Amino acid sequence: MIQLSKRFVEALQSVLGDGPVGLHEPLFAGNEKAYLQECIDTSYVSSVGPFVDRFESELCSFTGAPFAVAVVNGTEALHVALLLAGVRPGDEVLVPALSFVATANAVYYCGASPHFVDVDEPSLGMDPVALRRWLSSCTRVEGGQLINVYTGSRIRAMIPMHTFGLPCDVEGIEQVANDFGISVVEDAAEALGSYVGSTHVGNFGALGILSFNGNKVITTGGGGAILTSNEQLARRARHLTTTARLQHAWRFVHDEVGFNYRMPNLNAALGCAQLEQVEFFLASKRTLFGLYEDAFRDVPHCVIAREGPGRTSNYWLQTVVLDDAASEQLDEILNACNESGYKVRPAWTLLPDLAPYNRNPKAPLPVASSLTRRIINLPSSADLPIRKSPHWPLDAR
Ligand SMILES: *Cc1c(COP(=O)(O)O)cnc(C)c1O
Repeated sequence: MIQLSKRFVEALQSVLGDGPVGLHEPLFAGNEKAYLQECIDTSYVSSVGPFVDRFESELCSFTGAPFAVAVVNGTEALHVALLLAGVRPGDEVLVPALSFVATANAVYYCGASPHFVDVDEPSLGMDPVALRRWLSSCTRVEGGQLINVYTGSRIRAMIPMHTFGLPCDVEGIEQVANDFGISVVEDAAEALGSYVGSTHVGNFGALGILSFNGNKVITTGGGGAILTSNEQLARRARHLTTTARLQHAWRFVHDEVGFNYRMPNLNAALGCAQLEQVEFFLASKRTLFGLYEDAFRDVPHCVIAREGPGRTSNYWLQTVVLDDAASEQLDEILNACNESGYKVRPAWTLLPDLAPYNRNPKAPLPVASSLTRRIINLPSSADLPIRKSPHWPLDAR
């Protein structure tokens, strides 16, 4: 056990060579500069422009979503998706305790409360079995609405999240949602390129969202998208994210309080260039997963998180899961790796342990509480497997 942090650093070095190596860096090896130049030359830099339409239509082809609405970031995509799912002030929304803070913040922006539920291993996402047990014990149906008997609030929706790109049990979760009569909004912010069977994630709920922040699989600088198969919801999403302005050649009429959340053309230009390389990014991340799996095979107390059967992970952030016995050495391992130049990081602090959410309703969280002390994300940039190649830097197209 004493040697675990040393074994960990050696395993990283065998894959990555000498440091420093960042956690996740974007790769611009395609048409990024050309498309950005085109925006400037045509003066289409802001919230309308041909790259926005093109990016949306290419997102539809890549994900199989019938409609995609590009917005300023993943957090606001989730905010608007929740509004469209009918979340109103005073409602509760079920959120996995193990997620990035944006998942809970988007609920709060609707005037609603995140209600935290447990996750499972090995998916690291919302656990449908624990969820059904919890809802059976803490809710009643009143006038066709699901009510939390302890708070008296309506539970309107749930947000399964695909952690680090690993697809969660979204079909099992959807079944629970149907049985209890609540909507599903999928937080697929980390999961562009992840599938359950042949269906891209983000297509299971009434609405799904993606993020294109600088650290995600592809980046638009900042950006996000709302996915839906419902044409009316897509039209509402576009309307709400463009200040709810009615179509007119010159008159300014807004029929409700909208948002200025539309993705600018500059960001979409970057997104179009990045999407041209997404297959390469995904293949490269899968290669890196294989290299880590080999390197950590003989390191005790560790497994590399892997996609489940019938599932495809995008392997956005490579993840070691320690066993219980090794969880006490988490800080020592994190220190040793970071001191050796390998940027690794632990899982998020559980959302109900954060100051703004520590009085929110929550289910028992045995698995999330344990996992938050056992997860280590490894350097995951898409170019890592080829950085050592004599052909680097190469054209990723
Ligand atoms: C990145 C992320 C978001 C938010 O995306 P931004 O584009 O950064 O606003 C939401 N949820 C999860 C789980 C994320 O990882």
